[in-house]
Amino acid sequence: MTETKDKESAPPWDASRVNLTSRELGPGVFAVMPDDVLAKDHVGTTAGFVIGERGVLVVESMLNGDLASQLIGLVREATAKPIRFLVNTSYHGDHAYGNYLFPDSTVVIQHPATQRYMTDSFEEDRRFMIGLMGKGKGIERVQARTADIAVPEMLSVDLGGRVVEVRHFGFAQTPGDLVVWAPDAKVLWVGNMIQAPSPALPWLLEGRHKETIATLTRVREFLPEDATIIPGHGRPMRPADIEFPLLYLRELDRTVRKAIGEGRSIEEALDIAAMPHYCSYSLFDWAHKLVNVPAAYREAWHESQGDV
Ligand SMILES: [Zn+2]
Repeated sequence: MTETKDKESAPPWDASRVNLTSRELGPGVFAVMPDDVLAKDHVGTTAGFVIGERGVLVVESMLNGDLASQLIGLVREATAKPIRFLVNTSYHGDHAYGNYLFPDSTVVIQHPATQRYMTDSFEEDRRFMIGLMGKGKGIERVQARTADIAVPEMLSVDLGGRVVEVRHFGFAQTPGDLVVWAPDAKVLWVGNMIQAPSPALPWLLEGRHKETIATLTRVREFLPEDATIIPGHGRPMRPADIEFPLLYLRELDRTVRKAIGEGRSIEEALDIAAMPHYCSYSLFDWAHKLVNVPAAYREAWHESQGDV
């Protein structure tokens, strides 16, 4: 994944202090969010579930066994129907490590790139996640469980009386980003491609910011204006709220290009691309300065060399 978040820095949220709550957004369509979601601009992972006549589809499995159990408990409060499908929006541990706690009969759905990464790199990823989130957060006990169905582009899942769509709109934060669309309730789960509404910024952990711009634009165009978006780590938002990360990413692209055009180094680019008007985000120093500017600089530099 990345070395940009070093082991000494504080975790973005404390996995042992998350209380998950559910909110019904439409009949049988639930968003699951940490109970501090309205108080902070970045919280633990969000999730959700959709109940059909024949069973339930769950979005995300969370970071560890405790959080996966909380999520399953919220499903059980709402229905006794079987959890037939589980979708991971990416391979990030806080969205996929809890897969192992779901029943054997639950069909796990991932993008092929997520399936490949989890199959090939799980132990390396676990070490990274323990470094990021801390020891003793239940990550040590997680068991890898990968997709039963890999979805490269689009899958319609019939839950009985309602259909849910699993879609890949392109690279947004990882090569295997999936979104889940409940058309009748107009709810879209997007995972980490949008961390949270403004002032939260994207995290370009794997670079490729121009592809992120293109993918977010496609998601924006796909959605009706009155749709509800559940971002990966924040409160529900509207499609118009996608303009904020798009503005940020376009400005980031312009400023790193300007720095490269002037022959500046990556350190000097940090001054030119300081973008202090975005600094109200609580994770600004890490996300903007340590992750996004270097990632965008490297990409734009390679492009300026004709590598891309
Ligand atoms: Zn996440």
